[in-house]
Amino acid sequence: MRIFITLIVATYSLFALEYTLGDTSVTNGRTTYISFEKEKNIIYSKVSHKDESFGVFEHPLDATKMYALIPISYYQTPSQEKLTLTYTKNGAAFSEEMFIKVEDGKYTKEQIQVSSSKVNPTSKAVKDRTEEEYAEAMRIYGTVNKESYIKSAFIAPMQSVITSDFGKARVYNDSLKGYHSGTDYRAAVGTPIVASNNGVVALVAERFYSGGTVLIDHGQGIYTCYFHMSKFDVKKGQKVKKAQQLGLSGASGRVTGPHLHFAVRINKVQVDPLQFIELMNNTILKDIS
Ligand SMILES: [Zn+2]
Repeated sequence: MRIFITLIVATYSLFALEYTLGDTSVTNGRTTYISFEKEKNIIYSKVSHKDESFGVFEHPLDATKMYALIPISYYQTPSQEKLTLTYTKNGAAFSEEMFIKVEDGKYTKEQIQVSSSKVNPTSKAVKDRTEEEYAEAMRIYGTVNKESYIKSAFIAPMQSVITSDFGKARVYNDSLKGYHSGTDYRAAVGTPIVASNNGVVALVAERFYSGGTVLIDHGQGIYTCYFHMSKFDVKKGQKVKKAQQLGLSGASGRVTGPHLHFAVRINKVQVDPLQFIELMNNTILKDIS
């Protein structure tokens, strides 16, 4: 059983505009949101958090609303965080500050002791390849299409047991070397994998770490990722429908056994995929008044 943070929805009415802040308290690695009533004389620009900024988009299902997803990085330490909304009203520029509390996700830690030469076991060829693959992926995740392909709730990429949750820290020889950046599903080689929602296939590739990889662009900076696949049924650039088969699971890339690693990126930020789906399905896509 998975327990998610209770959603505290707060509506704020300022002299300038009205907005709903999805959750005033969020843990690192998770997502919150802000929604706005669409108003004729207001053009929402973006919500900024430190060096990052998140677009304010048309709500996928409600033409009277705008919204912004706020993904909180896993590496964000607990603190009070300022979000700045910028917008124009009757042509004049304004900004509004809002605050959210980021709390420690208290993710479990996996201690791994290995000989130090094995912590970064990379030849130059492998290093070059993985750097190129990373850069290509970041170019994709950084491509934000304003239109949403989403018409209904997200679904799981397969019905199976979850073997590893998002967020487990990997501590090699006492130093944090990363964390589990997605949700793992138990899957014998050859298990069908389906699209979590409507979108466009942004990448189909064999990569060093993630093996057979499919990335789907759902629009508005939302991407879902499917790793370690053994067969592809889609091509780059192809439009896919929710529940459409993307291919078959496998054990490709850097794995200890066959499984599906499912991940979500919002504006390049890796977030807990299941909490994201919960937020979209039970709040944002439902939050229509
Ligand atoms: Zn995984």
